[in-house]
Amino acid sequence: MLSYQHAYHAGNFADVHKHLTLFAVIDHLLRKPTPVSYFDTHAGRGRYRLAAEETRRLGEYRHGVEPLWRARGQLMEEPLLAGWLSALTAMQPNPQVLSHYPGSPAWLVHRLRPQDRLKLFELHPGEHACLAEQPMAGDVEWVHGDGLAGLLDSLPVTTPRLCALIDPSYERKAEYREVADTLHVAMRKARHAVMLVWYPLLPAARHHELLEGIRESGLRKVWRSELCLHEPGVGEHGMYGSGMLVINPPWGLDSRLIDAMAAVTPRLGQSSRYSSGWWVGE
Ligand code: SAM
Repeated sequence: MLSYQHAYHAGNFADVHKHLTLFAVIDHLLRKPTPVSYFDTHAGRGRYRLAAEETRRLGEYRHGVEPLWRARGQLMEEPLLAGWLSALTAMQPNPQVLSHYPGSPAWLVHRLRPQDRLKLFELHPGEHACLAEQPMAGDVEWVHGDGLAGLLDSLPVTTPRLCALIDPSYERKAEYREVADTLHVAMRKARHAVMLVWYPLLPAARHHELLEGIRESGLRKVWRSELCLHEPGVGEHGMYGSGMLVINPPWGLDSRLIDAMAAVTPRLGQSSRYSSGWWVGE
């Protein structure tokens, strides 16, 4: 069952949270010249046209990236957002108009240096075909296959550093447990890797299985941040928040994101809140 298509949600508040966190991690990794192997285990199609029928249908970007784009004049005063919004602008065919939202592969490719590598996994045949059509400069490999198994098969890497984004659609309940199990094995094969995991906050609270699985596995240095639009309502089914885990977070990541998110959250609605801290400490 692969019915999820990210185009219906592209540029929503969860993408802002996920891609700003990813951007901040890459920023830290770029401070050293040694090569990085990047993995994107659930890549999606790479770039989303906001005028596409499926993206307009739910229009989630109107409550995510769009208000930030409109306020970019003021938000550029915040250092991390200045970098993120400049990259977003550089990825538009016309830099005056927000017409496309970059998916994780585009954010990664944008900052890929000649010495770095990127491996993108996508299982959906249609999404993979769209991804493979995207122009991507650099040492980029596309794989039509399962991202969690593909990540484990690719380890260890020959570069001194490794960064992976794990961003499933969680269409199957078992995915929460599978992500925790994959992290457990992956971190044994690549102890210094920086791994990012996205998870949805839904009223059913299935993300606890992921979080508890990680704690039980004995992993250390797991940092968590959550962006909630509001408290979960009684009888509600939709996603009310977005969660990110960073294993082995670079030093100073927390404070940079807190500063940036303090400027972002008021643009996403009066009730929106950002919180962060160690899920499992050192
Ligand atoms: N990471 C993308 C981004 O930030 O732009 C969004 C990814 S979307 C949330 C999840 C993607 O995972 C979907 O495109 C889906 O087709 C794909 N997918 C689902 N199961 C997968 C699997 N086992 N391995 C790789 N990709 C999978």
